[in-house]
Parts: sequence; structure tokens; C-alpha cells
Amino acid sequence: MSDNNNQPVDPQDNRKTVQSPIQPLTHDDIRNFVPSSNCLDGKTILVTGAGDGIGRVAALTYARYGATVLLLGRTSSKLEYVYDEIESLGGKQPAMLPMNLEGATYAEMQQLEGLINKEVGQLDGILHNAGVLGQLTPLEMYDVDTFAQVMKVNFTATFMLTQALLPLLKDADHGSVVFTSSTVGTHPRAFWGAYALSKQAVEGMSDIFTQETQNTTNLRFNCVNPGGTRTNMRAHAYPGENPMSLKTPEDIMAGYVCLMSDESIAVRGQVIELQPKD
Ligand code: NDP
Repeated sequence: MSDNNNQPVDPQDNRKTVQSPIQPLTHDDIRNFVPSSNCLDGKTILVTGAGDGIGRVAALTYARYGATVLLLGRTSSKLEYVYDEIESLGGKQPAMLPMNLEGATYAEMQQLEGLINKEVGQLDGILHNAGVLGQLTPLEMYDVDTFAQVMKVNFTATFMLTQALLPLLKDADHGSVVFTSSTVGTHPRAFWGAYALSKQAVEGMSDIFTQETQNTTNLRFNCVNPGGTRTNMRAHAYPGENPMSLKTPEDIMAGYVCLMSDESIAVRGQVIELQPKD
């Protein structure tokens, strides 16, 4: 899986100008994507962790570009707030799907698939964004219960939800699954413990799903690495950092929109750094 920032997705083709939806895009194209106002019209997109941080802004942004957004998260009051924000910006009526991914069972996720099928009838994309940080400590001292919790939320539940929703996603004309990784997922780092390992596993899962489906479906799987972004999680991970030195979730939305739009249907199995280091 390529982590090159400026390489074309198709190594046979060095064209960088996007002329048609099936042109390959470079990672720069994706980061600098300028969406048309209705580029997500007609799409239904589920966002996990939609109540706060990057997920909240992604949900609002998808709605702004015409998508019907399904808001999945563990804190209902936060989902209600995002629901109201989408209504007040004139977006299509969203749906709230309260679910705590830490305790959620596969049966509940299959029920969710049935519910979406019955009530909405389609699913074109998932942004797997929900995540927890866990501890920043040596593996030797890592609390094993916290380890299991981080792996469940960041990785296992992500796998379970993807598998449960695959029937709907494969039915979409051009379905898109976007996983969320991290710099420590691509390059494991001391003291980042279960968080780094869970993100490594997510990158591997995206790669395997891509290999297993690319010849038989239009469904595509990619990862984004948001890079340092001004959210609660980042503040917990880097307590001494000046948050004003960081990009906001709004600043990095171009890539999130691009990967859900039909402009990116040729992008498969990539890890896209939204804030590459020069
Ligand atoms: P936040 O902590 O701000 O938001 C995380 C979201 O995930 C919240 O909405 C939270 O819900 C939800 N969530 C957490 N646990 C669960 C659970 N058990 N079930 C359902 N939802 C849950 O984090 P960010 O916005 O910063 O992070 C978003 C993603 O980006 C994460 O995957 C993170 O690893 C990744 N990332 C972030 C970076 C950054 O600098 N911010 C850098 C690299 C990667 P609630 O609000 O109800 O707690």
C-alpha cells in the first residue's frame, strides 16, 4: 500500500489534471479537492463518532454537499446537536444512530444494516472516524483492559461494522469506505501502545479488503491520516501544545469529501496523509 504523497494512484498514468470521474487522482489532488456544490447529492453516508471533533465536522460537511448523513456515536445529546446543525444549514434530514462501539455486538450491527435498508434503502459510504486514545505508556505497563477497549473501538468494531454493512455497500453504484489511521499507525511509535497497534491493524484491514474486492465490486476502501488536528483527542495526547498552532477539522475536509465523491472512484487501497510533512 502506497503512502506516497504526490504519486499518482495509478503508476502507469502520470496525468494530474482531473478531467473525468475515472481519472486517477494523486494524493495532492485529494488534499486540494475543490468540491462542486452538489457532489454528494443522492448519497447516503454513515459517519462514526459524528458527535464531536473531526467526525462532527465531516458529518456537517457531507450534508452541506448534498448527502443524507447517518450520525453514529455514543453520546445521544451530541448527535442531537449535530442533527440540529444539519437541519439549520438546510441539509437533508439526517438520522441518529446511537451506538457505543465498545460494547456493541455483531447482532446489533446486523440489525442496524436491516434498519438502514428498510428506512433509507441505500448506503454509499462509511467514514470510520470514531476512536479512543487509550494510554500513552510503555507496553510493559499497559493496562490490559484499556488495551482491549482501544482495540475494540478503533479496530474490531470497525471491522464488524464494515462486514455487517457490506451488503448495502456492495449494492451502491460506487461505494466508499474510509478508515481513519494516524501517523503512528503507519510508523509505530514507542509509548503509543494500543492506539498505534489498532491503527496499524486498520491500515492492514483496508489493504486486505481492497485486495479481496477490487476485481469483483465497485466498492473501494481507503485510509486517511488527518494529521495533527485541533480536537479533544489531540489535546489529551499533546497537553503542552498550543491548539492554535493546529489545523481545525474544517481545514482538512477537502480530502474527506473527495473520497466520498465519485471523483475518487479510481482511488483504492491508499493511505492518504491529509497534512503531509514537507
Ligand atoms: P475526538 O476525541 O474529538 O472525537 C472522537 C469521536 O469518537 C467522538 O465523537 C466520540 O464520541 C467517538 N467515540 C469514541 N468512543 C466511541 C465509542 N465507544 N462508540 C462510539 N463513538 C465513540 O477525536 P478526533 O476527532 O480527534 O479523532 C477522530 C479520528 O481521527 C480518530 O479515529 C482519531 O484516532 C483520528 N486522528 C485524529 C488526529 C488528531 O490530531 N485529532 C490525528 C490522527 C488521527 P463522544 O464525543 O460521545 O465521546
